[in-house]
Amino acid sequence: LRPGDGARTVAILVRAAERLIAEEGRLTALDQMVGDGDLGLNLARGAEVAKAEALDWTGADAASILRALSGSLRRSVGGTSGALYAAGLLRAARALDGIAAPTSRDWAKAFCEGTDAVATLGDTKPGDRTMIDALQPAAEALASSGLEAAVEAARAGAAATAAMAPRRGRSSYLGERAVGVSDPGAEAVVVWLSAIRDELAA
Ligand code: ADP
Ligand code: MG
Ligand code: MG
Repeated sequence: LRPGDGARTVAILVRAAERLIAEEGRLTALDQMVGDGDLGLNLARGAEVAKAEALDWTGADAASILRALSGSLRRSVGGTSGALYAAGLLRAARALDGIAAPTSRDWAKAFCEGTDAVATLGDTKPGDRTMIDALQPAAEALASSGLEAAVEAARAGAAATAAMAPRRGRSSYLGERAVGVSDPGAEAVVVWLSAIRDELAA
């Protein structure tokens, strides 16, 4: 870990983790309808580990924190989302390397590159009914219009997945039967992104 003023970043991360833990039941219920029912548990387990480990990161720079978070999630989150989040966070960390005090523009670029990494590893584009349907519009809105707009874009993107036929992940086995229920991974993005917004507004 390279030294930096990570207390604020850690506070934001802890808030996001707590929100994911609080939403475990709802995310699991969604994944029970259109997947294998483990998303809430996967993310809550990762959130617990990240929350505990983050206490050691308060004196680190942003890139180190995202890199450490990537490692925590890679080790603790099972399933597809663990690998995808680990990859996305690693790429986001790289975008912030060497930046002592990232600006909102730097964070927007990191979010954008992290999203690209998820799309590349998942071989996914918008419309496939995955977390990318929340991440991609959020990344664009964050760069052009700020965090509040990003939360709204993620929310709209996640809601729109309910009308999409799945083409990736376990939901793809359900085909049209998934229509009517939104993608759990996309809803999870709304959970942690709105928690970040709330912590920054606090
Ligand atoms: P698993 O299907 O292995 O149990 P999780 O339950 O951890 O995975 O995560 C499911 C979520 O991961 C989905 O709701 C979707 O948003 C996302 N996802 C699945 N496959 C892909 C993919 N190829 N690209 C991007 N996101 C994906
Ligand atoms: Mg699952
Ligand atoms: Mg699974």
